[in-house]
Amino acid sequence: MARYTGPVCKLCRREGEKLFLKGSRCLTPKCAIERRSYPPGQHGRESQYRRRRPSDYLLQLREKQKMRRIYGVYERQFSNYFRKAEQRAGLTGTNLLILLESRMDNVVYRLGFADSRSQARQLILHGHVMLNGRKTNIPSALVSAGDSLSVRPESTRLTYFKTLKQELDDRRVPGWLYLDTNNMAATVSHLPTREDIDVSLNEQLIVEYYSR
Ligand code: SF4
Repeated sequence: MARYTGPVCKLCRREGEKLFLKGSRCLTPKCAIERRSYPPGQHGRESQYRRRRPSDYLLQLREKQKMRRIYGVYERQFSNYFRKAEQRAGLTGTNLLILLESRMDNVVYRLGFADSRSQARQLILHGHVMLNGRKTNIPSALVSAGDSLSVRPESTRLTYFKTLKQELDDRRVPGWLYLDTNNMAATVSHLPTREDIDVSLNEQLIVEYYSR
């Protein structure tokens, strides 16, 4: 499936907050939200002064778009995740977040192997990451409890992974993942709970969006 290849900072400016799509740049003053915190486009700057009270629909739509953009998922795929989440027991919104968190590209990003989810996707597509000992180049593959992820032995010789190995100790890994920094390998201890997922999203608004 084709991916969004346009300027990602525009997506943050459209949502009016940092979505952290560009790795370390997002934490520097170069971040577009720090410099131009108004929506993109010809009338973006004026529109911030003309804001009316947003409708419920607008709030739901924006929340859905925000979640999609954070995880880098297209509309069709996102609505498929939502249907899947509905079929599972428990809260649909939480199920949806857990499904997105279980994507292999997200796990690689959470492990600190990549600075952003798009970079993680790239590493997977280029075959640098193995899932349960097998090369997997499907960024949307879902992991389960007990699965293992590791950097392909041949890839550990690349400068990128050599540098990464030295930096891994300083990276914070969520409690649902166990990382063996020496071997650049990890295990999914359990699937995340809502409390483990540190994204500021109101998933209930997304459930309302799809329940219209
Ligand atoms: Fe968003 Fe990062 Fe760009 Fe800032 S630098 S606007 S957080 S993608």
